[in-house]
Amino acid sequence: MHAVFEPHDNQAELARLASLFQAQRAAFAAAPFPSAAQRRAQLSRLKQTLLKHQDSLCAAISADFGHRSRHESQLLELFPSLAGIQHASSKLARWMKPRRRGVSIWFMPASNTVVPQPLGVVGIIVPWNYPLFLAIGPLTAALAAGNRAIIKVSEFTPRFGEALRLALAESFDESEVAVVNGGVPVAQAFSGYAWDHLLFTGSTSVGKQVMRAAAENLTPVTLELGGKSPTIVHGDFPIATAAERILHGKCLNAGQTCVAPDYVFIPEGQQAAFIEAARATVARWYPNLAANPDYSAVVNGRHLSRLQAYLQDAQEKGAQIVPLADADPASGKLAPTLVLGVNETMSVMQDEIFGPILPVLSYRDLDEAIDYVNAHPRPLALYYFDYDNARIGRMLAATTSGGVGINETVMHVGQDDLPFGGVGPSGMGHYHGHEGFETFSKMKPVFAQSRLNGLWMMRPPYGPRVERL
Ligand code: NAD
Repeated sequence: MHAVFEPHDNQAELARLASLFQAQRAAFAAAPFPSAAQRRAQLSRLKQTLLKHQDSLCAAISADFGHRSRHESQLLELFPSLAGIQHASSKLARWMKPRRRGVSIWFMPASNTVVPQPLGVVGIIVPWNYPLFLAIGPLTAALAAGNRAIIKVSEFTPRFGEALRLALAESFDESEVAVVNGGVPVAQAFSGYAWDHLLFTGSTSVGKQVMRAAAENLTPVTLELGGKSPTIVHGDFPIATAAERILHGKCLNAGQTCVAPDYVFIPEGQQAAFIEAARATVARWYPNLAANPDYSAVVNGRHLSRLQAYLQDAQEKGAQIVPLADADPASGKLAPTLVLGVNETMSVMQDEIFGPILPVLSYRDLDEAIDYVNAHPRPLALYYFDYDNARIGRMLAATTSGGVGINETVMHVGQDDLPFGGVGPSGMGHYHGHEGFETFSKMKPVFAQSRLNGLWMMRPPYGPRVERL
C-alpha cells in the first residue's frame, strides 16, 4: 500500500537544480519585464496543462498516499488551482498598473507612484499533503507577478513530483518554470540558493531551517507553516450543524490539512450531543470507511504510527478514545476519532495533529476558551461557531490567528480574493489573490521631480530660511 518509490537520484536532481537556476537567471536578465499579455498567456498555458493532465496528476497523488480520494483531489487541489489562475488572469492588468500616491506640500508638483516589478527567479518548496494546490497556488502568483520559478516537490510524493515535472515541461520551457524532485538533501540545498524570493510551505520546525538558510543570501521568505487551529462552538449555535462542519474540516484528506480544526471547545453539557451528531455524520458520509473511495489514507506508515501513538499516549494518561467508524489500519486509513478528557501532558494536545483525530474540550464561560487559545502559540486558523455578531466581533478582537472561519471550517482558504498566511509560529507573509501578486513583486516607489519645483529650500546654503521653519 505504502510502497517506497524513490525514482529520484539526489545527485542528479542537485545537478539539474544548479543548471536550471543559472538558466532561469540568464533568461530573466534577458527579459525582465513580461507584459500583461505574456503573463496571461503563461497562466492560460498553466490552466490548459492542469486540465489536460488532471487524471495523471490525481492518480499520482493517490498512488503516493496509498489512497487519496479522487474527488478530494479535484475539489481541494484542482478546482481551487484553476480558480486561482482565473482570478489572477482577470485581475492582472489592474494589479500591474502603477499606483499614484500623495505628495506633501514641500515637494509639489512632483509625482509619486508605486510601480510593481517582477523580482526575478523564485523558489517554491511544497509539502506532501496538498502537493498540487500548494505548488500551483504559489506558481500562479509568481507568474502573475512576472517571475520565473523552480518548484521543489516533497520526497513523500515522488510519483506526483514526476507527473508534475512531465506535465509542466510540455507547456513551459524550463527557463520559465521547472520542477525538481529528490529528498531532504535537495530541499536543503534548494533553500540555500540566492532566490529573489522563497516561498516555503511545511512544518514550523523545517520553516526555521529554511529561514536560516535563506538569511545567508538575504533571500526574503514567505513561510506557510502549521500549528494547532482551535475551534470554539458557542452554546447558542445548533450543535449538529457545528459537528457536521467541524468533522468535514477534520475528515478532508483524513485531517492532513494545515488548516484542519485541531481541537474543539464545546459548551459544558453539550458534549454528548456533539459526539452523537459526529457519529451520525461520519456514518452518513462514509459507510464502510476502509473501502470508501471518498475517505483518504494517511500518507505513509510513519505518519500512521505517529497518529496511533497520540491515541495510545492519551489513553494511557486517562483520556477516552471514541472512534467514529471502523477502519482497517492495513488499508492505511485511520477512522475519524474523538478524544475526550484530554489534558496538556498528552502529546495530542502538544503537537499539531495532522490526522483525523479530534480532541474535545469543554468550557463554561467563553473567556475560558479564549484564554486557552491566547496562552498557546498563534495558530494558522481559528474557527468560531456563533450567529451573534457582537460575540463574533469580540472573538475577532480577542484572538490572533493566520485566518478565521466563522460558522465553517477550512473554506476561507478557497477564497480567491482573501490573502492567506500565518502569524508568528504559523507563518509569515501572505499569498493568494492580490497579496500573492505583491509578495512576488518589488513594489517600487518612484518619486519624480517636476521641472517647476527646484527644491531651493533644501539646498545649501541653508541659513535663515531653514531656521525660520
Ligand atoms: P515538512 O516541513 O516536513 O516538509 C515540507 C517540505 O520541506 C518538503 O518538500 C521537504 O522536502 C522540505 N524539507 C524537508 N527538510 C528540509 C530542510 N531541512 N530544508 C529545506 N526543506 C526541507 O512538512 P510536511 O510534512 O511535508 O507538511 C506538513 C506540514 O506542513 C504541517 O506542519 C502543515 O501544517 C504544514 N502545511 C502548511 C500549509 C500552509 O499553507 N500554511 C499547507 C500545508 C501544510
